[in-house]
Amino acid sequence: MSDNSPLLRVEKLSKTFGDLKAVNNVNFTIDKGGIVSIIGPNGAGKSTLINILTGFLIPDSGHIFFKGEKIEKKSIQYRIRKGLNRSFQINSLFNNMTVKENILLALLYWEMPRKKFFVNRLPASIEIKVTDIINSINMTQKMNMEVGKLSHGEQRLIEITISIAKTPQLLFLDEPTSGLSPDERRLIIDKIKSIAEGGTTVVLIEHNMDVVFSLAKRIVVLNRGSVIADDKPSAIKENAEVKKIYLGEDMTVA
Ligand code: ADP
Ligand code: MG
Repeated sequence: MSDNSPLLRVEKLSKTFGDLKAVNNVNFTIDKGGIVSIIGPNGAGKSTLINILTGFLIPDSGHIFFKGEKIEKKSIQYRIRKGLNRSFQINSLFNNMTVKENILLALLYWEMPRKKFFVNRLPASIEIKVTDIINSINMTQKMNMEVGKLSHGEQRLIEITISIAKTPQLLFLDEPTSGLSPDERRLIIDKIKSIAEGGTTVVLIEHNMDVVFSLAKRIVVLNRGSVIADDKPSAIKENAEVKKIYLGEDMTVA
């Protein structure tokens, strides 16, 4: 792969649920660096697309190239090990387990195919990594608390922190600020900024236009499973088709 080839290339990707074309012949590329946002109304196919790109769904047709390698049939763990990770739209943590247990479980899950661990003999490297992650989000005091007892913002922070534990080159965040208070939203936005500044390319699915326009260098607009616009934020704001879809919603930045 040459240096200027894209980090991710999506070619004619489609996924049907019954009669519904949830993702319909989607093409785009993601270059290395910065934050790209995917927007579109509810049901546009954003989460389905991310599920396909990260290995949670297999496409009906089309190809995904990550760092030049065809990956559409590779496992979730394989993609994570190659540097592609995600967070979920709906909290995917185990609410009745502690902060520490949740982080440990995620790390073990990723390592499991390569090494077999015994629960009573965790490798020191994993223990250290878990402690580092907990410290990095200032949750040492709360590490033995059940995740379900934390605020939504704290839960999101843990989930995003887990998704970057293996320093992915490409990270998909599916509506990371949904359901958060303004303060919690700010915390997550700062986290996303610092992830991108650290060199991870971020693909952000986001409903809040203020967040999108303040963070994204490029915006891909999905509607009914198809890409209807792919451009700089300034151009997206002026795009007639995009405006029509968002009619009634304020697309201007506050
Ligand atoms: P978005 O994330 O943009 O809101 P989704 O990707 O979740 O949209 O959904 C796209 C469309 O596909 C919606 O109409 C949704 O109801 C449908 N859909 C999503 N997942 C499934 C599934 N597993 N089975 C059937 N239909 C689904
Ligand atoms: Mg969604």
